[in-house]
Amino acid sequence: MSKLKILEFPDPRLRTKATPVVAVDDALRVFIGDMFETMYAAPGIGLAATQVDLHKRLLVADVSVDKDQPHVLINPEIIEKDGVTVTDEGCLSVPGYYEEVERAEHVKVRFLDRDGNETELDAHGILAVCIQHEIDHLDGKLFVDYLSEAKRTRIRKKLEKERRQQNAVVI
Ligand code: ZN
Repeated sequence: MSKLKILEFPDPRLRTKATPVVAVDDALRVFIGDMFETMYAAPGIGLAATQVDLHKRLLVADVSVDKDQPHVLINPEIIEKDGVTVTDEGCLSVPGYYEEVERAEHVKVRFLDRDGNETELDAHGILAVCIQHEIDHLDGKLFVDYLSEAKRTRIRKKLEKERRQQNAVVI
């Protein structure tokens, strides 16, 4: 397995709308393993393929404390949603920023599992929030899009400045 590089806001590749996975095969399962390794190492509770520059409709998540409840959702589709919950969200692609976002408290999602079988999952609370956040990534959307433009611009400028400092050559 290998760790993948996570794209960071405002990288334009994060705005790509992912296309459906056509074949759930061994190559995809290797990539899924790499996504879990990347997510656990970060550490994060969810990761969309978009964030590691594969523009296919695939996400992984594990919101358990012991990191022993991995979920793989291929071609996920929300077929029911209800309730409202507000969570302080962060994102591995927007490091260091946490803001309140309102989402559905419950979603029923239909997807293919890692063996290619069609499955449904009822997710509540943090798992429901995580799945909605990751499906947004697959549509090229980031949690900062729910904030005011002024706030989003402020975060973008700070991240760009940090990246310039990280990449600068000090002579
Ligand atoms: Zn994210």
